[in-house]
Amino acid sequence: MASRSIAIIGAGPGGLTLARLLQLHDLPCSIYEAEENREERNQGGTLDLQPRAGQRALKEAGLLEEFRKYSRPEGEKDKIVLYDGTVLWDENEQDNHGPEELTNRPEIDRTQLRQILLDSVKPESIRWSKKLVRVEAVQGDQYNLHFEDSVEEGFDLVVGADGAWSKVRRLLSAATPFYSGITVVELWARDVEKANPALSKYVGDGSMFMFDEGRAIISQRNGNNCIRTYACVRQPESWVKTCGIDWTQHNAAKQALLDRYFANCSSDLKHLVLDSSEGLIPRILYMLPIGYKWDTCPGVTLLGDAAHLMTPFAGVGVNLAMADALDLASELVSRKEGRVAKLFSDKHNITSAIGAYEKSMYERGEKYAQKTWHGLQAHFSATGGRERAEKIRKHAAARNVA
Ligand SMILES: Cc1cc2nc3c(=O)[nH]c(=O)nc-3n(C[C@H](O)[C@H](O)[C@H](O)COP(=O)(O)OP(=O)(O)OC[C@H]3O[C@@H](n4cnc5c(N)ncnc54)[C@H](O)[C@@H]3O)c2cc1C
Repeated sequence: MASRSIAIIGAGPGGLTLARLLQLHDLPCSIYEAEENREERNQGGTLDLQPRAGQRALKEAGLLEEFRKYSRPEGEKDKIVLYDGTVLWDENEQDNHGPEELTNRPEIDRTQLRQILLDSVKPESIRWSKKLVRVEAVQGDQYNLHFEDSVEEGFDLVVGADGAWSKVRRLLSAATPFYSGITVVELWARDVEKANPALSKYVGDGSMFMFDEGRAIISQRNGNNCIRTYACVRQPESWVKTCGIDWTQHNAAKQALLDRYFANCSSDLKHLVLDSSEGLIPRILYMLPIGYKWDTCPGVTLLGDAAHLMTPFAGVGVNLAMADALDLASELVSRKEGRVAKLFSDKHNITSAIGAYEKSMYERGEKYAQKTWHGLQAHFSATGGRERAEKIRKHAAARNVA
């Protein structure tokens, strides 16, 4: 039983970081993932890992060197333009923009980060094609997991790392994510340096942002010479279905999107959408209430997006998920006192570990949910670009003084 006592639902960055940290300390756990295998889904764009969150978790997990092999420090460079193409800030143009000017938040492709984490956990501990339907509380503070095709019984601790639409969350509260007001259409262009050098140069080494009232275009260089573009609009939740754009018609849909929402933008900005030959995936962005909490439940907790889903407008989601994993692992490991059996011998150990973890997670989650909400308001305003450029300029000046 001890080897099956901890169940982690979801093999995203949060769940995998937790599994790695527990296994490093000889705490056995099983990870249940809905996807069929590691290749099933394109895992999405690029993520920046912060020194005190994502990078700290990787360091504790013994994976920082592996991360550095694939991370892109130059991906931190920002470029900010107005809708008419006026450049407000461009770190690609700064000749002296070397590593010392960067803020140690290197980018890494999401797929790459997941591979590093997947390769670090015991292969036999991951169960693919296990889509959780519900968690059942049974006598003696134990839990049974009901999957689409089976039931696994008798867990002492269930960690919901199952993202935005967490099924584990349902056992803790009735809260569900609500629409943030923003929908993003994701596109990408491959092999840009060869196939489209102008697009490649326009975006630069990192991220290019255009923020404006009710709309934004964000383009980010990913690894493998790919540029991912997000055309974002503030529209009702039903917009994807009701706007009249036929999303199955790639070229016509891109043109309609531009004509309706970005008509007065510069030609360079329009080309970011027009020249992206893949993707066109609408993503309706949801969030949990800021400061979302639940009553501590012995043997069940959440981490990452399952606990504090927010929009990507402060770029912190993955960092929070990994910091959560680190905190929860530390609380569990510190109650093990050298023996796995010690952790599970007294139910109070698990409950107090969860309570201590949730306290720090709530504080961190609320702080960044607030910041993200402010980011969303600012980005989708007419002054958003200028404000962001000014903020970066001040930070850069402060770094230079320091
Ligand atoms: C467009 C976009 C851009 C973003 N950019 C950034 C950024 O630049 N920086 C940043 O820090 N964050 C960013 N984020 C947020 C970041 O991707 C998330 O916060 C992060 O992935 C959360 O990690 P997680 O492990 O909690 O959840 P997830 O990554 O969502 O992983 C959850 C896992 O659980 C599995 N799962 C789900 N349901 C079940 C089930 N019922 N049974 C079993 N398994 C299940 C899923 O398949 C998945 O593998 C962005 C998000 C979006 C949408």
